[in-house]
Amino acid sequence: MGNHSLVQVVCAEYERLLDESQAALTNWAYERAEISGHRGRDVYYDLRTLQRDFLKAWALLQNHKRDCEVCQIIDDH
Ligand SMILES: [Zn+2]
Repeated sequence: MGNHSLVQVVCAEYERLLDESQAALTNWAYERAEISGHRGRDVYYDLRTLQRDFLKAWALLQNHKRDCEVCQIIDDH
């Protein structure tokens, strides 16, 4: 594989939260594209729920980065 001469610092919790927020973003974007032709109250309710899920996951990620010592080290690079 690649030539990784630098020490890779990885925070497992950060990776998990990042995965979750990306999955939530993907769901949200997919639904938005999927239903762009259909308008209705149910549709908007679903979208709002997915948007809220994503924003929640994203906020968790940001909070974690701010408070996590491992992530502070990664950010310094
Ligand atoms: Zn971390």
